[in-house]
Amino acid sequence: MKGRTHLAFAFFLSMYLTWLYEWPLLSVLVVLLGSLLPDIDDHRSILGKKVFPLSFVLKLFGHRGFFHSLLFIALLWLGLAYVGYEFFGTLLALGYVSHLLLDGFTPMGVRPFFPFDWKVRGPFPTGSWVEPFLFFGFVLGGLLCFILAL
Ligand SMILES: [Zn+2]
Repeated sequence: MKGRTHLAFAFFLSMYLTWLYEWPLLSVLVVLLGSLLPDIDDHRSILGKKVFPLSFVLKLFGHRGFFHSLLFIALLWLGLAYVGYEFFGTLLALGYVSHLLLDGFTPMGVRPFFPFDWKVRGPFPTGSWVEPFLFFGFVLGGLLCFILAL
């Protein structure tokens, strides 16, 4: 899926769960960052463009490999928990898993249990007709959750 669709889904999820947060704005931003994090291995992605030399090097290890896996986010969560940021690690993981979930609907799929080969695939290619519907649905759902939480 495209970066904006990942952001919209993460926006919806973070607005739905906004009652959990101690710092709502910062928490939503961390969830949004987490939703972009897996595509750090693609230098053409939103986050990949921001960290260009790094993303280009990471792509050499393959797109949708280690950086699209539960292993990566588990290691990152452990690292953040070790330094006392487990809550932000959990928010980052929420956005990250939302990314994997949506990428699982594409024919290219994802391997959430990397390095094992089991793959989750779906029928909707990145940029297909379904993405604008998902995008607007998630944005409207997120706004509705925000309004209802006020
Ligand atoms: Zn991705």
